[in-house]
Amino acid sequence: MQGKIALEEHFAVEETLADSKGFFPDTVWGELRARLIDIQDRRLREMDANGVELMILSLNAPTVQAVADPTAARDLARRTNDYLAAEIAKRPDRFRGFAALPLQDPGHAAEELRRCVRELGFVGALVNGFSQVGDADTTTYYDEPAYRPFWREVEALGVPFYLHPRNPLLSHARIFQGHEWLLGPTWAFGQETAVHALRLTGSGLFDDCPALQIILGHMGEGLPFSMWRVDNRNAWMNLPPSYKAKRQIGDYFRENFHLTTSGNFRTSTLVDAIAEIGVDRIMFSTDWPFENVDHAARWFDSADMAEQDRARIGRENALRLFKLDLPG
Ligand code: MN
Repeated sequence: MQGKIALEEHFAVEETLADSKGFFPDTVWGELRARLIDIQDRRLREMDANGVELMILSLNAPTVQAVADPTAARDLARRTNDYLAAEIAKRPDRFRGFAALPLQDPGHAAEELRRCVRELGFVGALVNGFSQVGDADTTTYYDEPAYRPFWREVEALGVPFYLHPRNPLLSHARIFQGHEWLLGPTWAFGQETAVHALRLTGSGLFDDCPALQIILGHMGEGLPFSMWRVDNRNAWMNLPPSYKAKRQIGDYFRENFHLTTSGNFRTSTLVDAIAEIGVDRIMFSTDWPFENVDHAARWFDSADMAEQDRARIGRENALRLFKLDLPG
């Protein structure tokens, strides 16, 4: 399929490269480093070769979220957002941007998102899970009441918020201690992000901000597969939910979330995601440079689905959600 739009596509700047290096052995770091730093060369060739017209770019992880000093986090976000805007300006026909946000301080984050949307033309934000605040061992999740004004600002700006994974702190996640192979995309990314998404939902966030739209990668971080059970466990007991939100979790999932195919190139998983959230809420993505564009595109272009659905997932849903004005 030509004209695909991909939206979980990362880059790094020199000062954020180290955030990705720790996950990978030296045998692949040279290649990954080159992929991360590049925007205008290899990336465009990969896009051309695989029918990707547009990438919405975002900074690598965890970067801004792991900078415990709020002022330093704000400065890093501003620098990298300005850099991304300058790169997009070189090829506005091929790139758009997601803002990195210093959520250590909800006021800073709202201000930076406003700046990125109004002045830099960004189409939303991509945030790497919880933020460390004040010291490396103190974490904050965005269902907390202090973030409600930030979320109202996201809703008012009318842009989606991509909740991207990061690893839990090992000091907070004893279950992974000694089993580090489970960290990252193998398991911990999905678990961490799914729980954060459920926290946001159960907090009543979408009762306060009904138009707010959250994007999850990796075909929904396991949530489509588990959503029925979230709302229907022990149904015979007929117990009222013990969370603050007014409706079933699945209701919000189907009205306030979108999923992408990033890093999860599996047709049976896509079929389940379509069944749970609907074909209009799923978008193609690759997770470049951690996954290959050709792996994503070859799978997606040949996966067994109606051509009308391929066009929606590959392009049309993103055009609509991000109000993109592209030729063709
Ligand atoms: Mn990613």
